Amino acid sequence: MDGALLIRDDQPLPGLDGPITTSVRRTSTYSIHVTSDENTALKALAVAVGNRMVAMITDETVEELHAERISQWLAGHVSKIQKIVLPAGEASKGLPTACRLLDWLAQSEMRRRDVLVAVGGGAIIDTAGWVASIYMRGISYVNVPTTLLAQVDAAIGGKVAVNHDTAKNLIGGFYAPDAVVSCTDWLGTLDSRQFRSGLAEAIKMAVISSRQLLDFIEQHLESLAALDRRCLQTLVHAASAIKCVLVERDPYEVDLRRTLNFGHTVGHAVETVTGYGPVLHGEAVAYGMTVALRVASARGVLAPAVAARVVGILRAVGLPVALEDLPVAPAPEDVIRALEKVRQVRDGSLRFVLPTEIGSALIVDDVGDDEIRAALAGG
Ligand code: NAD
Repeated sequence: MDGALLIRDDQPLPGLDGPITTSVRRTSTYSIHVTSDENTALKALAVAVGNRMVAMITDETVEELHAERISQWLAGHVSKIQKIVLPAGEASKGLPTACRLLDWLAQSEMRRRDVLVAVGGGAIIDTAGWVASIYMRGISYVNVPTTLLAQVDAAIGGKVAVNHDTAKNLIGGFYAPDAVVSCTDWLGTLDSRQFRSGLAEAIKMAVISSRQLLDFIEQHLESLAALDRRCLQTLVHAASAIKCVLVERDPYEVDLRRTLNFGHTVGHAVETVTGYGPVLHGEAVAYGMTVALRVASARGVLAPAVAARVVGILRAVGLPVALEDLPVAPAPEDVIRALEKVRQVRDGSLRFVLPTEIGSALIVDDVGDDEIRAALAGG
């Protein structure tokens, strides 16, 4: 208690032998609002920011499509709003952009109690979140994700980062938002490749955690592709809830053996060898899931019919399930070499998440090159 004597007058001062041990804990609680109606989303956003000054960060594409409208509406509800519009895409997710944002905030009237609002896809959200985490040792931020991938994945969980020339997401931390406001109506302007890329992450969530969600996706493929409002809201709501449960189990990723990494071992290797960009993250993960499903099926830990079902869903969505389906097809040996590098960095172990049925998975580190080669080739 502040003001009370911490060492009573009749107690000796602590002895000098041994270290002093201390512990600190941080718990974050926040709401994720999922709606298909922009008015409802705006009201939730207004409540989340309250009467604070808002610094909005968005990109050029999103500004034109949605952020201009959102900021104009917000201007009538908050004490002050300022906005910065960055170039769209992954190139903005780096230290130069973060420095630019820090300069912009430092020259503004933002106080520690004010709030940053990130409106955009995962690239904007990851960058804005990291800047929020370091500016004044941490200011509040609210995520307003506008891609499917960001709504079901990037906006939730508090993983914030920017890229470095040597590696993606190299500079970052864990810093939870004040709130997430997802409106599926904003997804109507996404191009179909970006939409499918987000759907890949939702399918991943379903395979590792929910038979019901996988059934739902399978039964509503056409409605989802047609951007049916109710279907999209159900999908984003369920995938967001699943992501929350999975993150709550290990918010700071102490255990790297996470089922959320299903499809990511080979997915990351594909992104690395194709130079981050030509193959979208969700496309690489879809192919990575296919490879993991084939390994699981060849090992006999997953029924071939279940593997075939999931690959069938990915194919029906229009996601890559073979190397030649990828927008830029890497040579299998290049993928193996990229995986070998990961193995070396991780002291010889390469983790694969292998589903054993829908809703459960094994995490193994003994998948050999020959098994990977056979799965890459589609065997
Ligand atoms: P992105 O942010 O680059 O957005 C993709 C493109 O879509 C951009 O050009 C953007 O301007 C445009 N866009 C955004 N919303 C739109 C809309 N409503 N209509 C039309 N165009 C729109 O890509 P992304 O797929 O959203 O996110 C990828 C990033 O997310 C990567 O950097 C990845 O590392 C990160 N990520 C982070 C986490 C996490 O937990 N923090 C999880 C997954 C991915």
